Amino acid sequence: MQAKAFISQSALQHNIAQAKNFAPQSKIVAMVKANAYGHHIEHIEPLLTQADLLAVSELFEVKRLRQFSDKPILLLSGVYSAKELDQAQQLDCIVVLHAIEQLPIIANSRQKLTIWIKVDTGMHRLGLTPKQYQQAVETLAQSPHINIQVVMSHFACADETDHPMNAQQLEVFNQLEIHAKKSMANSAMLMSNPGTHFDYVRPGIMLYGVSPFAMPDAQLKAAMQLQAPVLAVRQLEAGEAVGYGATFVADKPTTLATIGIGYGDGYPRHMKNGAPVSIAGKLCQLAGRVSMDLITVDVGNASVNIGDQATLWGDNNTPVELLAQYADTTAYELITGVSARVNFSSAP
Ligand SMILES: *Cc1c(COP(=O)(O)O)cnc(C)c1O
Repeated sequence: MQAKAFISQSALQHNIAQAKNFAPQSKIVAMVKANAYGHHIEHIEPLLTQADLLAVSELFEVKRLRQFSDKPILLLSGVYSAKELDQAQQLDCIVVLHAIEQLPIIANSRQKLTIWIKVDTGMHRLGLTPKQYQQAVETLAQSPHINIQVVMSHFACADETDHPMNAQQLEVFNQLEIHAKKSMANSAMLMSNPGTHFDYVRPGIMLYGVSPFAMPDAQLKAAMQLQAPVLAVRQLEAGEAVGYGATFVADKPTTLATIGIGYGDGYPRHMKNGAPVSIAGKLCQLAGRVSMDLITVDVGNASVNIGDQATLWGDNNTPVELLAQYADTTAYELITGVSARVNFSSAP
């Protein structure tokens, strides 16, 4: 009785259609890094077929993705040696130039190569400085094989719509001399700021039906439902404690269900008491510490039976954005963290 993740194909379909509604003039780069934000590449067909481009972080992710798609693939980390450049070209991918040290490798390409240049407009993680960008453009003008398709940048505070850095970064970007297409927006900007859409938008989290902001958004449909079976049911008396460290003590007689999922499956150990768990459609509460294979849930006076399915996140009672608050993290981390022990399948 393994934990299961169901990936809704109609939800993925809906979310990419929503991305197109938000940015009808822009091409869509579907961010499918980290095995499609933990949804598994083999279960996200609507995104693979409907995006204009796909993007991943690492060369080995490109290799795997190529088995599922002939679409253009953007390699976000770019290449660090002539050998990697060669592999990238064999996989027919578009390479991001984000560090000036990568420039000679790209400039020496002996085959046709399409690149995106990433400029650091203030996040200070990846990207050329505006000055290095100028230098790269001048150098690459001597390289007839290189096509600079897009100049991109990434926002540091996109999920805080009023943050002053957003306007500052946009200003830096708008001052660059760009003779290529442009790309800045992630999901948060795609959904909140049309002034950042430009030619290519780069949605990730929203495609999986998860809001980039802290609260669930009715315009999106959660693609992942994480479920696990009830393995045992017992009655608790007032004063009886539950689980490691006895961190939950019943304050009145209640029913406790033990569910077959834990931090070994990617349900975080620091999920707090009271986190919502849905059992046979009824809203119940996590009670006691999460163990490796098990959680315990206070089901009150609901009738719950061994074999009933609990939904940990992804139904109306259990939006993953809310679970993230109970775990002091983001929904991004929860969905990408579901482990290999969980059985994934596509659902309608
Ligand atoms: C992951 C990523 C995105 C997508 O961000 P979301 O917040 O998931 O929409 C966009 N751009 C870059 C460069 C990324 O690495």
